[in-house]
Formats: sequence, C-alpha cells, structure tokens
Amino acid sequence: MKTITLTFLGDLNLFLPGGKREVTCTFRGRQTVKHLIESLGVPHTEVGEVNRQGQRVRLDYIPRNKEHLTVHPPAPGCEVEPRFLLDAHLGRLTAYLRMLGFDCLYRNDYDDAELTAIVQREGRILLTRDRRLLMRKAIRYGYCLRSSDPQEQLHEVVRRFDLTGKISPFQRCLRCNHPLQPVPKREILHRLEPLTKKYFNEFHICPHCDQIYWKGSHYERMIRLIESIRG
Ligand SMILES: [Zn+2]
Repeated sequence: MKTITLTFLGDLNLFLPGGKREVTCTFRGRQTVKHLIESLGVPHTEVGEVNRQGQRVRLDYIPRNKEHLTVHPPAPGCEVEPRFLLDAHLGRLTAYLRMLGFDCLYRNDYDDAELTAIVQREGRILLTRDRRLLMRKAIRYGYCLRSSDPQEQLHEVVRRFDLTGKISPFQRCLRCNHPLQPVPKREILHRLEPLTKKYFNEFHICPHCDQIYWKGSHYERMIRLIESIRG
C-alpha cells in the first residue's frame, strides 16, 4: 500500500467530502495523479497545475509512497477560442452568454454521449454542473459550474475563462446562436408593434430563425448585467 497527501488550493475543496483542503489517499500499485485526484471527486478539467516540492508534474505522473502534492485550480484564461457547449438545464446561462456575443451550443435533450461527441468534434468548452461528465477522458476543456443561479454562473464563466475583454454584446441570436445582421426598418415594418414602430429605428435580424432584435425593453437590463460583469 502507498499513501500520499494532496493539498487542494483555491476553491477546489468544494469538490471534496467535508470541504477539507488536505486529503490523505491510500492506494495499491501504480496510479496516475489524475486518477487519484478524480477518485476524490475533482474532475481533471478543474486542475491547473500539480506540484511536487515546488516542481510541476504532469497529470500522468505516478506518485511514490509518502509524497505530498499540491493541486492548483487553473489560472483564469482560455487556451482555445471561447466557444461553449452547455449541458441541459443551462438555458438561461446560454442566453446570457449569447447576449455577450459568445458562441454557445445548447439543446435541452443532448445526452452525455452526444455532448462528448460534440466536444471532441468541435473543440468546444463544456459547461455543466455534472462533475462525472467532466471526468470523461474525451473532455479536454470544461468547467464545472459551482452556482445554480444563472447570473452567478455567468460571472463564474467570465472569471474562469477571462472573457471580460472579449465581450461583444448584441451580435448573436439568443434563440439559435446565429450571428445577427443589421436590417433596415422599412424591410420589417410590417412585423413591428405600433410602439416599437414609433420609438425604435435600429434593428437586427437573425438570418437563421428570422427573429428581430432592437434595443427595447430588455436592453436596459442587459446593459446593467454587462456593466456588473465588466465591473
Ligand atoms: Zn436565430
């Protein structure tokens, strides 16, 4: 039998039983540090660096008896283009991220196998609250949402992937993710309600689902949300 001690930094202790930071792990044979960390409940997507005596080791490192390793969360940032795939029940987070201009694929009926296949095919970042899903080997980039509140989740994602400088609001259809195009008012006049017709002159349309957007009722709320994120 071998015994090692792992210290978890940042908020990684949220994944551990009782929220402890230091865990002693007893195991047989040759186990990778990745396997040991995941067996404690922390998905590999939540791990930035693992250090042994101040030196970084790879996730396939095989620890020796009585070693002490330190597990760091990832530094904020995004090594790939921030394009996301969202797990079921994350419809509101999807709308918020699209509102900020981010490419987000979402359907409430994708199963785990479909999610995994899309991530592999398209190189998207998987957002989910299901940590078991993030432990799949095929999931290279992902994030386990801590909060169940959509606005909190939005803050988490912006922080984790350092998205503040990449926000480009009102560029993407909230319904279907397609990029929006400006449309002259005269072309859609027949589709507007009388008050919209009277008070608004600038419109965008989704060329995919035909939804029309203008800076109306939701606009002020969106602006406040974006300001709170930028702040
Ligand atoms: Zn659309």
